[in-house]
Amino acid sequence: MIIVLKQRATHDDLTRVEQMIKRRGLDTHIVEGSEMTIIGCIGDTTQIDSKLFEVDSAVDKVMHVQEPYKLANRAFHPEDSIIDVSGVKVGGGSLALIAGPCSVESYEQVLEIANAAKASGANLLRGGAFKPRTSPYSFQGMGVDGLDILCKVREATGLPIVTELMSPEHLDLFNEKVDLIQIGARNMQNFDLLKQLGRLNRPILLKRGFNATYEEWIMAAEYIMAAGNENVILCERGIRTFESYTRNTLDLQSIPVLRKLTHLPVIVDPSHAGGKWWLVEPMAKASVAAGADGLMIEVHNNPECALCDGAQSLKPQKYDVLLKEIRQIAEVIGKNI
Ligand code: PEP
Ligand code: MN
Repeated sequence: MIIVLKQRATHDDLTRVEQMIKRRGLDTHIVEGSEMTIIGCIGDTTQIDSKLFEVDSAVDKVMHVQEPYKLANRAFHPEDSIIDVSGVKVGGGSLALIAGPCSVESYEQVLEIANAAKASGANLLRGGAFKPRTSPYSFQGMGVDGLDILCKVREATGLPIVTELMSPEHLDLFNEKVDLIQIGARNMQNFDLLKQLGRLNRPILLKRGFNATYEEWIMAAEYIMAAGNENVILCERGIRTFESYTRNTLDLQSIPVLRKLTHLPVIVDPSHAGGKWWLVEPMAKASVAAGADGLMIEVHNNPECALCDGAQSLKPQKYDVLLKEIRQIAEVIGKNI
């Protein structure tokens, strides 16, 4: 249930209505926007008579929210959420441009890629240190050493870092060192992990599971938000379909749908969607044109020898050309880059 206050409602009005809600055993979530103040009621509202609130002189209207997600729901928060990733704004009018290798392989490798990507316009650096690989015989990532390399490259370039957390064992380490904590497709419904992210101060990049519906994906975000961390960015990365030519199928429709259903920023990872480097450019452009709040793209200085996902990685020079084109699209749709 959502209670919208009249424009002239005072702070005392807000406190009074809030107390009425709390007396009925519910929690509140207040959004004071530039246009209006909204009180989201959290808990079992099925037995609450909305007329109790409608008669209050400060209340404009009472609306029932059908969806099972509340905090992530756009009805609770009509304005776009803007997430601050160590000074880089994601959402609203800005584009997050995350680039870097699939996996951290060495300091020199990450530094070279980061410098090139930054010169092209990237504002966040990605790189996997702990890798979720399908085969236990594949390269599993450099682990803590890889994270240290990312931190050193951040120091050298000033780019905030994005990297995947797989295990609750590393929560505190990531909270201390990582600017944007990535939760991968394979862990999107690892509910214990999601609950623990709620106690961190860092924003979370939540990738869509290969077979997750929109509602399941938003409910995963709701887990993190309900546990206390509302700084969640969603990332579409392709879903499994019957088509086997591409690695996954990029669901472009998810961008307008998620932006309609939630207030959270929605970015796109075209690299893991198509699995082929030459699909990255058209899908990245389509994503921005469809309203994405950013792109996460794998860039490698020597894709032929990459330890992971070379086939879908762009060379720095191709990334540079792509960002020039993205800039033109961003301008047309009114995003800053
Ligand atoms: C990644 O971004 O490195 C990754 C493993 O992606 P996903 O979880 O989407 O497969
Ligand atoms: Mn990868």
